[in-house]
Amino acid sequence: MAVQVERTGMLLIISGPSGTGKGTLVKMLMENDPSFRFSCSVTTRKPRVGEIEGVHYYFVSDEEYEQMVANGEFLEHATVHGHHYGTLRKPVEELMKQGYNVLLDIDPQGAISVMENADDYVSVFILPPSFEDLRVRLHTRNTDDPVEIERRLNNARGEVKKVERYQYALINDNLELAFSQLQHIVNAEKQRTNRYKPVITE
Ligand code: ADP
Ligand code: 5GP
Repeated sequence: MAVQVERTGMLLIISGPSGTGKGTLVKMLMENDPSFRFSCSVTTRKPRVGEIEGVHYYFVSDEEYEQMVANGEFLEHATVHGHHYGTLRKPVEELMKQGYNVLLDIDPQGAISVMENADDYVSVFILPPSFEDLRVRLHTRNTDDPVEIERRLNNARGEVKKVERYQYALINDNLELAFSQLQHIVNAEKQRTNRYKPVITE
């Protein structure tokens, strides 16, 4: 008897308030798991220092974004903290067809929209240990001005209320522990028989 495996890609949705550590955990996952590809979103937000076009985001104007919405290019799109963001449908579908696991770092509005429309997905909400920690992290990251930070902290209150819509939640207090929990979720989900199909031959 021989056993071979056919794998189907997983759509992994990660959400959480700004500053909770999503980007940090996503980077760690990308560096440690070659089966994943990051879905690079489109945004009308201005690039932060160090952000690279086509790596962190595709940065577009309001007009370009509206055109993309009209063309149906987005799997989901939402206005978050006063800026527009959207997930490109085509690259996600193509990467999944190629058998990759695809990671979406998107807000709860977009996440819930994907959950309502996709047949199969894995959703994880990253919580901060406290709102005070979130405030400290956003200031320490030093990428947004104080007005933008306040806006993000105010939105965080509403965002965390959506945690129950997700299949998994974890608290990013100790980074190593949070990453280990994320890896456990991902590794268990990879072995589900709808994604991991053992083909048994005599
Ligand atoms: P997000 O992508 O959710 O907005 P980031 O990944 O940019 O958040 O993290 C926000 C800031 O918090 C960064 O400066 C990052 O280095 C820091 N950070 C991430 N995880 C932790 C943690 N577990 N403990 C302390 N600081 C953290
Ligand atoms: P930031 O401006 O800090 O990069 O991201 C702000 C928020 O927008 C985060 O909650 C992030 O998850 C979300 N976001 C990033 N890309 C997308 C996207 O394509 N769609 C949606 N709905 N949210 C996104």
